[in-house]
Amino acid sequence: MQDKRQFYINGAWVNPAKANDMPVIDPSTEDEVAVISLGDQADTDAAVAAAKTAFASWSQSSVAERMDLLGQIKSVYEKRSEDMAQAISLEMGAPIDMSRAQQVGVGNWHIEGFERALANFQWEKPLGDHAPTHMTLYEPIGVCALITPWNWPMNQIVLKTIPALATGCTMILKPSEIAPLSGAVWSEIMDEAGVPAGVYNMVQGDGVGVGSQLSAHKDVDMISFTGSTRAGKLISKSAADTIKRVTLELGGKGANIIFPSAKENAATSGAQRVFNNTGQSCNAPTRMLVHADRYDQAVEDVIAAANATEVGPASAPGKHIGPVVSEVQYNKIQGLIEEGIKEGARLVAGGLGRPEGLNKGYYVRPTVFADVTNDMTISREEVFGPVFTVQKFDTEEEAIAITNDTDYGLTNYIQCQDEEQKVRVARAVRSGMVELNRVGFGQGYAFGGYKQSGNGREGGEFGLHEYLETKSVSDWPM
Ligand code: NAD
Repeated sequence: MQDKRQFYINGAWVNPAKANDMPVIDPSTEDEVAVISLGDQADTDAAVAAAKTAFASWSQSSVAERMDLLGQIKSVYEKRSEDMAQAISLEMGAPIDMSRAQQVGVGNWHIEGFERALANFQWEKPLGDHAPTHMTLYEPIGVCALITPWNWPMNQIVLKTIPALATGCTMILKPSEIAPLSGAVWSEIMDEAGVPAGVYNMVQGDGVGVGSQLSAHKDVDMISFTGSTRAGKLISKSAADTIKRVTLELGGKGANIIFPSAKENAATSGAQRVFNNTGQSCNAPTRMLVHADRYDQAVEDVIAAANATEVGPASAPGKHIGPVVSEVQYNKIQGLIEEGIKEGARLVAGGLGRPEGLNKGYYVRPTVFADVTNDMTISREEVFGPVFTVQKFDTEEEAIAITNDTDYGLTNYIQCQDEEQKVRVARAVRSGMVELNRVGFGQGYAFGGYKQSGNGREGGEFGLHEYLETKSVSDWPM
Protein backbone atom coordinates (compact mmCIF):
# COMPACT_ATOMS: atom_id res chain seq x y z
CA MET A 1 0.00 0.00 0.00
CA GLN A 2 1.57 3.27 -1.11
CA ASP A 3 1.37 6.24 1.25
CA LYS A 4 0.92 9.35 -0.91
CA ARG A 5 -0.60 11.69 1.66
CA GLN A 6 1.88 14.53 1.27
CA PHE A 7 1.53 17.61 -0.90
CA TYR A 8 4.29 19.43 -2.76
CA ILE A 9 4.32 23.07 -1.67
CA ASN A 10 7.07 25.67 -2.00
CA GLY A 11 9.68 23.16 -3.14
CA ALA A 12 9.12 20.61 -0.36
CA TRP A 13 6.93 17.58 0.46
CA VAL A 14 4.66 18.59 3.33
CA ASN A 15 2.02 16.93 5.48
CA PRO A 16 -1.61 17.99 5.08
CA ALA A 17 -2.90 20.60 7.53
CA LYS A 18 -5.60 18.14 8.64
CA ALA A 19 -5.85 14.39 8.13
CA ASN A 20 -8.47 13.51 5.51
CA ASP A 21 -7.52 10.15 4.02
CA MET A 22 -8.95 8.77 0.81
CA PRO A 23 -8.12 5.34 -0.64
CA VAL A 24 -6.92 4.86 -4.20
CA ILE A 25 -8.65 1.86 -5.77
CA ASP A 26 -7.11 -0.32 -8.49
CA PRO A 27 -10.00 -0.64 -10.98
CA SER A 28 -8.69 -4.00 -12.25
CA THR A 29 -9.02 -5.67 -8.83
CA GLU A 30 -11.12 -3.28 -6.70
CA ASP A 31 -8.30 -3.43 -4.12
CA GLU A 32 -7.06 -0.42 -2.17
CA VAL A 33 -3.54 0.19 -3.40
CA ALA A 34 -2.65 3.60 -2.00
CA VAL A 35 -3.86 6.34 0.27
CA ILE A 36 -3.90 10.08 -0.39
CA SER A 37 -5.09 12.98 1.68
CA LEU A 38 -7.74 15.41 0.48
CA GLY A 39 -6.48 18.93 1.04
CA ASP A 40 -8.11 21.55 3.18
CA GLN A 41 -8.47 25.35 2.80
CA ALA A 42 -5.20 25.81 4.75
CA ASP A 43 -3.30 23.60 2.24
CA THR A 44 -4.83 25.45 -0.70
CA ASP A 45 -3.92 28.80 0.85
CA ALA A 46 -0.32 27.70 1.52
CA ALA A 47 0.13 26.55 -2.08
CA VAL A 48 -1.41 29.72 -3.52
CA ALA A 49 0.76 31.90 -1.24
CA ALA A 50 3.90 30.06 -2.38
CA ALA A 51 2.94 30.50 -6.03
CA LYS A 52 2.15 34.18 -5.51
CA THR A 53 5.54 34.85 -3.89
CA ALA A 54 7.43 32.89 -6.56
CA PHE A 55 5.71 34.79 -9.37
CA ALA A 56 7.78 37.91 -8.64
CA SER A 57 11.02 36.22 -9.73
CA TRP A 58 9.78 33.49 -12.13
CA SER A 59 7.84 36.00 -14.25
CA GLN A 60 11.18 37.76 -14.81
CA SER A 61 13.14 34.63 -15.76
CA SER A 62 14.68 34.55 -19.21
CA VAL A 63 13.38 32.43 -22.06
CA ALA A 64 16.76 30.65 -22.10
CA GLU A 65 16.30 29.70 -18.44
CA ARG A 66 12.82 28.33 -19.12
CA MET A 67 13.98 26.44 -22.22
CA ASP A 68 16.68 24.87 -20.13
CA LEU A 69 14.15 23.85 -17.48
CA LEU A 70 11.85 22.27 -20.08
CA GLY A 71 14.82 20.23 -21.31
CA GLN A 72 15.58 19.10 -17.74
CA ILE A 73 11.97 18.11 -17.14
CA LYS A 74 11.90 16.11 -20.37
CA SER A 75 15.02 14.21 -19.48
CA VAL A 76 13.82 13.36 -15.94
CA TYR A 77 10.41 12.40 -17.39
CA GLU A 78 12.12 9.99 -19.76
CA LYS A 79 14.18 8.55 -16.90
CA ARG A 80 11.04 8.05 -14.77
CA SER A 81 8.86 6.82 -17.64
CA GLU A 82 8.42 3.29 -16.25
CA ASP A 83 7.34 4.63 -12.82
CA MET A 84 4.87 6.89 -14.58
CA ALA A 85 3.51 4.07 -16.75
CA GLN A 86 3.00 1.86 -13.67
CA ALA A 87 1.32 4.68 -11.70
CA ILE A 88 -1.17 5.45 -14.49
CA SER A 89 -1.88 1.78 -15.14
CA LEU A 90 -2.58 1.16 -11.45
CA GLU A 91 -4.70 4.23 -10.75
CA MET A 92 -6.94 4.31 -13.82
CA GLY A 93 -6.64 0.88 -15.43
CA ALA A 94 -4.77 1.55 -18.69
CA PRO A 95 -3.18 -1.76 -19.78
CA ILE A 96 0.53 -1.50 -19.08
CA ASP A 97 1.74 -1.65 -22.69
CA MET A 98 -0.77 1.01 -23.70
CA SER A 99 0.17 3.06 -20.64
CA ARG A 100 3.86 3.02 -21.65
CA ALA A 101 3.27 3.78 -25.32
CA GLN A 102 0.32 6.16 -25.27
CA GLN A 103 -0.37 7.51 -21.79
CA VAL A 104 3.30 8.27 -21.07
CA GLY A 105 4.34 8.79 -24.70
CA VAL A 106 1.92 11.64 -25.23
CA GLY A 107 3.64 13.60 -22.45
CA ASN A 108 7.02 13.69 -24.26
CA TRP A 109 5.26 14.61 -27.48
CA HIS A 110 3.55 17.65 -25.95
CA ILE A 111 6.72 18.80 -24.15
CA GLU A 112 8.52 18.82 -27.52
CA GLY A 113 5.65 20.78 -29.06
CA PHE A 114 5.99 23.43 -26.35
CA GLU A 115 9.79 23.56 -26.70
CA ARG A 116 9.38 24.38 -30.38
CA ALA A 117 6.68 26.97 -29.67
CA LEU A 118 8.73 28.64 -26.93
CA ALA A 119 11.88 28.78 -29.07
CA ASN A 120 9.95 30.64 -31.79
CA PHE A 121 7.62 32.75 -29.69
CA GLN A 122 7.50 36.47 -30.41
CA TRP A 123 7.08 38.23 -27.03
CA GLU A 124 6.91 41.74 -28.49
CA LYS A 125 5.02 42.55 -31.69
CA PRO A 126 4.77 45.95 -33.43
CA LEU A 127 1.14 46.81 -34.20
CA GLY A 128 1.91 47.72 -37.81
CA ASP A 129 3.32 50.37 -40.13
CA HIS A 130 0.25 52.54 -39.59
CA ALA A 131 1.22 52.96 -35.88
CA PRO A 132 5.01 53.05 -35.83
CA THR A 133 5.56 53.39 -32.03
CA HIS A 134 2.89 51.01 -30.80
CA MET A 135 4.04 47.71 -29.32
CA THR A 136 2.10 44.69 -28.13
CA LEU A 137 3.75 42.79 -25.27
CA TYR A 138 2.86 39.33 -24.01
CA GLU A 139 3.27 38.78 -20.27
CA PRO A 140 2.51 35.87 -17.91
CA ILE A 141 -0.96 36.05 -16.38
CA GLY A 142 0.16 35.14 -12.83
CA VAL A 143 -0.84 32.35 -10.44
CA CYS A 144 -2.61 29.52 -12.28
CA ALA A 145 -4.73 26.73 -10.80
CA LEU A 146 -4.64 23.62 -12.95
CA ILE A 147 -7.40 21.06 -12.38
CA THR A 148 -7.13 17.77 -14.26
CA PRO A 149 -9.20 14.57 -14.79
CA TRP A 150 -8.23 10.91 -14.61
CA ASN A 151 -8.59 9.63 -18.15
CA TRP A 152 -5.33 10.79 -19.80
CA PRO A 153 -3.50 12.05 -16.71
CA MET A 154 -0.13 12.95 -18.25
CA ASN A 155 -1.62 14.37 -21.42
CA GLN A 156 -3.61 16.86 -19.37
CA ILE A 157 -1.00 17.61 -16.71
CA VAL A 158 1.69 18.29 -19.34
CA LEU A 159 -0.69 20.38 -21.47
CA LYS A 160 -1.17 22.69 -18.48
CA THR A 161 1.99 22.71 -16.36
CA ILE A 162 4.49 23.05 -19.22
CA PRO A 163 2.98 26.12 -20.94
CA ALA A 164 2.42 27.72 -17.52
CA LEU A 165 6.13 27.27 -16.74
CA ALA A 166 7.20 28.28 -20.24
CA THR A 167 5.36 31.59 -20.07
CA GLY A 168 6.67 32.57 -16.61
CA CYS A 169 3.54 31.72 -14.62
CA THR A 170 3.47 29.94 -11.28
CA MET A 171 0.96 27.25 -10.47
CA ILE A 172 -0.95 24.87 -8.24
CA LEU A 173 -1.84 21.52 -9.77
CA LYS A 174 -4.82 19.62 -8.41
CA PRO A 175 -4.82 16.19 -10.02
CA SER A 176 -7.92 14.02 -10.10
CA GLU A 177 -8.55 12.41 -6.72
CA ILE A 178 -9.47 9.22 -8.61
CA ALA A 179 -6.04 9.07 -10.31
CA PRO A 180 -3.67 10.94 -7.99
CA LEU A 181 -0.57 8.73 -8.27
CA SER A 182 0.64 10.07 -11.62
CA GLY A 183 0.33 13.62 -10.23
CA ALA A 184 2.58 12.60 -7.34
CA VAL A 185 5.20 11.12 -9.71
CA TRP A 186 4.99 14.27 -11.85
CA SER A 187 5.70 16.38 -8.75
CA GLU A 188 8.80 14.27 -8.03
CA ILE A 189 9.90 14.89 -11.62
CA MET A 190 9.42 18.65 -11.29
CA ASP A 191 11.40 18.59 -8.04
CA GLU A 192 14.28 16.58 -9.52
CA ALA A 193 14.37 18.75 -12.64
CA GLY A 194 15.04 21.78 -10.44
CA VAL A 195 11.85 23.84 -10.81
CA PRO A 196 12.43 26.76 -8.39
CA ALA A 197 10.56 26.60 -5.06
CA GLY A 198 6.99 27.89 -5.24
CA VAL A 199 6.81 27.95 -9.04
CA TYR A 200 5.09 24.55 -9.15
CA ASN A 201 2.92 23.30 -6.27
CA MET A 202 0.65 20.26 -6.02
CA VAL A 203 -2.24 19.70 -3.63
CA GLN A 204 -4.37 16.56 -3.81
CA GLY A 205 -8.07 17.02 -3.25
CA ASP A 206 -11.57 16.69 -4.58
CA GLY A 207 -13.84 19.05 -6.49
CA VAL A 208 -15.92 20.31 -3.59
CA GLY A 209 -12.78 20.90 -1.52
CA VAL A 210 -9.51 22.04 -3.12
CA GLY A 211 -11.12 22.37 -6.59
CA SER A 212 -13.73 24.88 -5.41
CA GLN A 213 -11.26 26.64 -3.12
CA LEU A 214 -8.93 27.25 -6.05
CA SER A 215 -11.70 28.47 -8.37
CA ALA A 216 -12.91 30.99 -5.81
CA HIS A 217 -9.46 32.07 -4.56
CA LYS A 218 -8.76 35.79 -4.81
CA ASP A 219 -5.03 35.25 -5.42
CA VAL A 220 -5.51 32.83 -8.33
CA ASP A 221 -5.45 34.67 -11.66
CA MET A 222 -6.45 31.84 -13.93
CA ILE A 223 -8.07 28.41 -13.80
CA SER A 224 -7.31 25.88 -16.49
CA PHE A 225 -9.73 23.01 -16.16
CA THR A 226 -10.15 19.73 -18.01
CA GLY A 227 -13.02 17.51 -17.02
CA SER A 228 -16.76 17.18 -17.23
CA THR A 229 -19.06 19.87 -18.56
CA ARG A 230 -20.91 19.63 -15.23
CA ALA A 231 -17.81 20.64 -13.22
CA GLY A 232 -16.83 23.23 -15.86
CA LYS A 233 -20.10 25.08 -15.24
CA LEU A 234 -19.61 25.02 -11.45
CA ILE A 235 -16.03 26.28 -11.77
CA SER A 236 -17.08 29.12 -14.07
CA LYS A 237 -19.70 30.20 -11.55
CA SER A 238 -17.37 30.11 -8.56
CA ALA A 239 -14.62 31.93 -10.50
CA ALA A 240 -17.00 34.71 -11.55
CA ASP A 241 -16.70 36.78 -8.38
CA THR A 242 -12.97 37.30 -8.86
CA ILE A 243 -13.15 37.70 -12.69
CA LYS A 244 -10.30 35.29 -13.18
CA ARG A 245 -9.61 33.79 -16.57
CA VAL A 246 -11.24 30.36 -16.91
CA THR A 247 -10.25 28.04 -19.71
CA LEU A 248 -12.24 24.87 -20.09
CA GLU A 249 -11.62 21.58 -21.90
CA LEU A 250 -14.80 19.58 -21.44
CA GLY A 251 -16.69 16.59 -22.77
CA GLY A 252 -17.43 15.45 -26.30
CA LYS A 253 -19.74 13.34 -28.42
CA GLY A 254 -17.83 13.18 -31.69
CA ALA A 255 -19.39 11.98 -34.92
CA ASN A 256 -17.51 9.72 -37.32
CA ILE A 257 -19.05 10.20 -40.77
CA ILE A 258 -18.45 7.34 -43.17
CA PHE A 259 -19.15 8.43 -46.76
CA PRO A 260 -19.50 6.03 -49.74
CA SER A 261 -15.91 6.76 -50.82
CA ALA A 262 -14.42 5.88 -47.38
CA LYS A 263 -11.67 3.28 -47.18
CA GLU A 264 -12.93 -0.27 -46.74
CA ASN A 265 -11.74 -0.56 -43.12
CA ALA A 266 -13.34 2.75 -42.01
CA ALA A 267 -15.95 1.22 -39.70
CA THR A 268 -13.53 -1.28 -38.13
CA SER A 269 -10.95 1.39 -37.53
CA GLY A 270 -13.60 3.76 -36.10
CA ALA A 271 -14.66 1.08 -33.61
CA GLN A 272 -11.05 0.50 -32.55
CA ARG A 273 -10.60 4.24 -32.08
CA VAL A 274 -13.56 4.35 -29.65
CA PHE A 275 -12.42 1.31 -27.67
CA ASN A 276 -8.88 2.65 -27.16
CA ASN A 277 -8.40 3.66 -23.50
CA THR A 278 -11.62 1.71 -22.80
CA GLY A 279 -13.64 4.47 -24.44
CA GLN A 280 -12.53 7.01 -21.86
CA SER A 281 -11.46 9.80 -24.21
CA CYS A 282 -13.29 13.09 -24.55
CA ASN A 283 -12.50 13.06 -28.28
CA ALA A 284 -13.67 9.48 -28.96
CA PRO A 285 -15.79 9.16 -32.14
CA THR A 286 -18.80 7.71 -30.34
CA ARG A 287 -21.49 8.46 -32.92
CA MET A 288 -20.75 6.55 -36.12
CA LEU A 289 -22.85 7.92 -39.00
CA VAL A 290 -22.83 5.66 -42.05
CA HIS A 291 -24.13 6.32 -45.56
CA ALA A 292 -27.01 3.99 -46.47
CA ASP A 293 -24.89 2.28 -49.18
CA ARG A 294 -22.30 1.19 -46.60
CA TYR A 295 -24.58 0.74 -43.57
CA ASP A 296 -25.22 -3.02 -43.41
CA GLN A 297 -21.57 -3.89 -44.00
CA ALA A 298 -20.45 -1.29 -41.44
CA VAL A 299 -22.72 -2.84 -38.79
CA GLU A 300 -21.22 -6.27 -39.56
CA ASP A 301 -17.72 -4.81 -39.29
CA VAL A 302 -18.26 -3.09 -35.95
CA ILE A 303 -19.86 -6.23 -34.47
CA ALA A 304 -16.73 -8.14 -35.47
CA ALA A 305 -14.48 -5.39 -34.08
CA ALA A 306 -16.34 -5.31 -30.75
CA ASN A 307 -16.31 -9.09 -30.41
CA ALA A 308 -12.58 -9.17 -31.22
CA THR A 309 -11.74 -6.61 -28.52
CA GLU A 310 -10.35 -8.42 -25.52
CA VAL A 311 -10.86 -7.07 -22.02
CA GLY A 312 -8.50 -7.79 -19.15
CA PRO A 313 -6.50 -6.47 -16.21
CA ALA A 314 -4.24 -3.46 -16.60
CA SER A 315 -1.19 -5.31 -15.31
CA ALA A 316 -1.29 -7.93 -18.12
CA PRO A 317 0.83 -7.23 -21.22
CA GLY A 318 -0.94 -7.13 -24.58
CA LYS A 319 -3.35 -5.17 -26.71
CA HIS A 320 -6.53 -5.74 -24.68
CA ILE A 321 -8.54 -2.94 -23.12
CA GLY A 322 -8.67 -2.52 -19.34
CA PRO A 323 -11.48 -1.82 -16.88
CA VAL A 324 -13.18 1.56 -16.63
CA VAL A 325 -11.82 3.78 -13.90
CA SER A 326 -14.25 3.37 -11.00
CA GLU A 327 -17.40 1.84 -9.65
CA VAL A 328 -19.20 5.15 -10.21
CA GLN A 329 -18.25 5.12 -13.90
CA TYR A 330 -19.12 1.41 -14.20
CA ASN A 331 -22.61 2.03 -12.81
CA LYS A 332 -23.13 5.11 -14.97
CA ILE A 333 -22.21 3.14 -18.11
CA GLN A 334 -24.48 0.23 -17.16
CA GLY A 335 -27.31 2.73 -16.68
CA LEU A 336 -26.77 4.21 -20.14
CA ILE A 337 -26.64 0.76 -21.80
CA GLU A 338 -29.93 -0.08 -20.08
CA GLU A 339 -31.38 3.23 -21.30
CA GLY A 340 -30.32 2.44 -24.88
CA ILE A 341 -32.06 -0.94 -24.73
CA LYS A 342 -35.22 0.65 -23.25
CA GLU A 343 -35.29 3.37 -25.90
CA GLY A 344 -35.34 0.72 -28.63
CA ALA A 345 -31.83 0.97 -30.09
CA ARG A 346 -30.68 -2.35 -31.58
CA LEU A 347 -27.97 -3.83 -29.34
CA VAL A 348 -25.64 -5.61 -31.77
CA ALA A 349 -22.58 -6.27 -29.58
CA GLY A 350 -21.81 -6.40 -25.86
CA GLY A 351 -24.47 -5.28 -23.42
CA LEU A 352 -25.07 -5.25 -19.69
CA GLY A 353 -22.78 -6.85 -17.12
CA ARG A 354 -19.12 -7.82 -17.11
CA PRO A 355 -17.40 -9.76 -19.91
CA GLU A 356 -17.37 -13.51 -19.37
CA GLY A 357 -14.80 -14.72 -16.85
CA LEU A 358 -14.29 -11.33 -15.18
CA ASN A 359 -16.22 -11.21 -11.93
CA LYS A 360 -14.27 -8.54 -10.07
CA GLY A 361 -13.00 -5.21 -11.36
CA TYR A 362 -14.85 -2.51 -13.30
CA TYR A 363 -14.89 -4.31 -16.65
CA VAL A 364 -17.42 -3.35 -19.31
CA ARG A 365 -18.33 -5.33 -22.44
CA PRO A 366 -17.40 -3.58 -25.71
CA THR A 367 -20.89 -2.50 -26.76
CA VAL A 368 -22.47 -1.23 -29.97
CA PHE A 369 -25.99 0.01 -30.66
CA ALA A 370 -27.23 0.19 -34.26
CA ASP A 371 -30.31 1.89 -35.78
CA VAL A 372 -29.92 4.73 -33.31
CA THR A 373 -31.72 8.05 -33.72
CA ASN A 374 -30.43 11.38 -32.54
CA ASP A 375 -33.11 11.84 -29.90
CA MET A 376 -31.97 8.80 -27.89
CA THR A 377 -30.05 9.34 -24.66
CA ILE A 378 -27.16 7.17 -25.85
CA SER A 379 -26.59 9.42 -28.84
CA ARG A 380 -26.77 12.61 -26.75
CA GLU A 381 -24.94 11.82 -23.49
CA GLU A 382 -21.25 11.17 -23.16
CA VAL A 383 -20.95 7.53 -22.05
CA PHE A 384 -17.20 7.52 -21.35
CA GLY A 385 -16.85 3.77 -21.76
CA PRO A 386 -16.39 1.24 -24.59
CA VAL A 387 -19.82 1.96 -26.02
CA PHE A 388 -20.88 3.64 -29.27
CA THR A 389 -23.81 4.09 -31.60
CA VAL A 390 -24.31 3.57 -35.34
CA GLN A 391 -26.77 5.64 -37.31
CA LYS A 392 -27.74 5.67 -41.01
CA PHE A 393 -27.83 8.75 -43.30
CA ASP A 394 -28.70 9.33 -46.95
CA THR A 395 -27.32 12.76 -47.85
CA GLU A 396 -24.33 14.92 -46.95
CA GLU A 397 -26.67 17.61 -45.57
CA GLU A 398 -28.30 15.08 -43.29
CA ALA A 399 -24.90 13.85 -42.02
CA ILE A 400 -23.82 17.41 -41.23
CA ALA A 401 -27.13 18.18 -39.50
CA ILE A 402 -26.89 15.07 -37.28
CA THR A 403 -23.23 15.82 -36.49
CA ASN A 404 -24.03 19.35 -35.37
CA ASP A 405 -27.17 18.41 -33.45
CA THR A 406 -25.38 18.08 -30.10
CA ASP A 407 -24.41 20.31 -27.19
CA TYR A 408 -20.78 19.28 -27.72
CA GLY A 409 -18.24 20.25 -30.38
CA LEU A 410 -14.83 18.74 -29.62
CA THR A 411 -13.63 16.43 -32.42
CA ASN A 412 -15.49 15.15 -35.46
CA TYR A 413 -14.16 12.52 -37.83
CA ILE A 414 -14.73 12.21 -41.57
CA GLN A 415 -13.93 9.13 -43.67
CA CYS A 416 -14.04 10.23 -47.29
CA GLN A 417 -11.69 9.89 -50.28
CA ASP A 418 -13.51 12.57 -52.32
CA GLU A 419 -11.25 15.62 -51.82
CA GLU A 420 -13.91 18.26 -52.44
CA GLN A 421 -16.48 16.61 -50.23
CA LYS A 422 -14.10 16.09 -47.30
CA VAL A 423 -13.07 19.76 -47.30
CA ARG A 424 -16.69 20.95 -47.63
CA VAL A 425 -17.83 18.79 -44.71
CA ALA A 426 -14.76 19.67 -42.56
CA ARG A 427 -15.78 23.33 -42.87
CA ALA A 428 -19.45 22.63 -42.12
CA VAL A 429 -19.13 20.66 -38.89
CA ARG A 430 -19.04 22.70 -35.67
CA SER A 431 -16.07 21.42 -33.65
CA GLY A 432 -12.63 22.56 -32.58
CA MET A 433 -10.99 19.62 -34.33
CA VAL A 434 -11.82 17.60 -37.46
CA GLU A 435 -9.82 14.48 -38.17
CA LEU A 436 -9.94 13.36 -41.79
CA ASN A 437 -9.35 9.75 -42.81
CA ARG A 438 -7.65 8.81 -39.52
CA VAL A 439 -4.66 11.06 -40.26
CA GLY A 440 -3.31 12.26 -36.87
CA PHE A 441 -2.80 15.93 -35.97
CA GLY A 442 0.61 17.63 -36.08
CA GLN A 443 2.70 18.34 -32.97
CA GLY A 444 1.68 21.65 -31.40
CA TYR A 445 -1.88 21.58 -32.84
CA ALA A 446 -4.67 23.44 -31.04
CA PHE A 447 -6.67 21.04 -28.86
CA GLY A 448 -10.05 22.37 -27.79
CA GLY A 449 -13.74 22.49 -28.47
CA TYR A 450 -16.72 24.54 -29.60
CA LYS A 451 -19.99 24.90 -27.68
CA GLN A 452 -20.18 22.94 -24.38
CA SER A 453 -16.90 21.17 -25.14
CA GLY A 454 -15.17 24.23 -23.74
CA ASN A 455 -13.46 27.47 -24.65
CA GLY A 456 -9.73 26.76 -24.39
CA ARG A 457 -7.03 25.71 -26.84
CA GLU A 458 -4.13 23.66 -25.53
CA GLY A 459 -0.83 22.63 -27.14
CA GLY A 460 2.10 24.39 -28.82
CA GLU A 461 1.85 28.12 -29.48
CA PHE A 462 -1.94 28.13 -28.92
CA GLY A 463 -1.33 26.67 -25.47
CA LEU A 464 1.22 29.37 -24.58
CA HIS A 465 -1.30 32.10 -25.41
CA GLU A 466 -3.71 30.70 -22.81
CA TYR A 467 -1.29 31.73 -20.04
CA LEU A 468 -0.46 35.20 -21.33
CA GLU A 469 -1.86 38.67 -20.89
CA THR A 470 -1.70 41.06 -23.83
CA LYS A 471 -0.40 44.56 -23.11
CA SER A 472 -0.58 47.51 -25.55
CA VAL A 473 2.09 50.20 -25.10
CA SER A 474 2.36 53.49 -26.98
CA ASP A 475 5.44 55.61 -27.74
CA TRP A 476 7.63 52.51 -27.60
CA PRO A 477 11.21 53.16 -28.76
CA MET A 478 11.57 51.14 -31.96
P1 NAD B 1 -14.72 15.64 -13.35
O1 NAD B 1 -15.26 16.91 -13.90
O2 NAD B 1 -15.56 14.89 -12.40
O3 NAD B 1 -13.36 15.91 -12.61
C1 NAD B 1 -12.27 16.55 -13.23
C2 NAD B 1 -11.47 17.31 -12.21
O4 NAD B 1 -12.27 18.37 -11.72
C3 NAD B 1 -11.07 16.49 -10.99
O5 NAD B 1 -9.78 16.92 -10.60
C4 NAD B 1 -12.11 16.88 -9.96
O6 NAD B 1 -11.66 16.76 -8.64
C5 NAD B 1 -12.35 18.34 -10.31
N1 NAD B 1 -13.66 18.87 -9.95
C6 NAD B 1 -14.85 18.22 -9.94
N2 NAD B 1 -15.83 19.06 -9.54
C7 NAD B 1 -15.24 20.26 -9.32
C8 NAD B 1 -15.72 21.54 -8.87
N3 NAD B 1 -17.00 21.73 -8.59
N4 NAD B 1 -14.83 22.55 -8.74
C9 NAD B 1 -13.52 22.36 -9.03
N5 NAD B 1 -13.01 21.18 -9.43
C10 NAD B 1 -13.86 20.15 -9.58
O7 NAD B 1 -14.31 14.80 -14.62
P2 NAD B 1 -13.64 13.37 -14.67
O8 NAD B 1 -14.73 12.39 -14.40
O9 NAD B 1 -12.40 13.32 -13.86
O10 NAD B 1 -13.15 13.32 -16.20
C11 NAD B 1 -13.96 12.91 -17.22
C12 NAD B 1 -14.50 14.11 -17.99
O11 NAD B 1 -13.42 14.88 -18.49
C13 NAD B 1 -15.28 13.69 -19.21
O12 NAD B 1 -16.47 14.43 -19.30
C14 NAD B 1 -14.36 14.02 -20.36
O13 NAD B 1 -14.99 14.23 -21.56
C15 NAD B 1 -13.66 15.21 -19.85
N6 NAD B 1 -12.39 15.40 -20.55
C16 NAD B 1 -12.25 16.45 -21.42
C17 NAD B 1 -11.07 16.64 -22.11
C18 NAD B 1 -10.89 17.80 -23.05
O14 NAD B 1 -9.76 18.23 -23.22
N7 NAD B 1 -11.91 18.34 -23.65
C19 NAD B 1 -10.01 15.78 -21.92
C20 NAD B 1 -10.19 14.71 -21.05
C21 NAD B 1 -11.38 14.55 -20.36
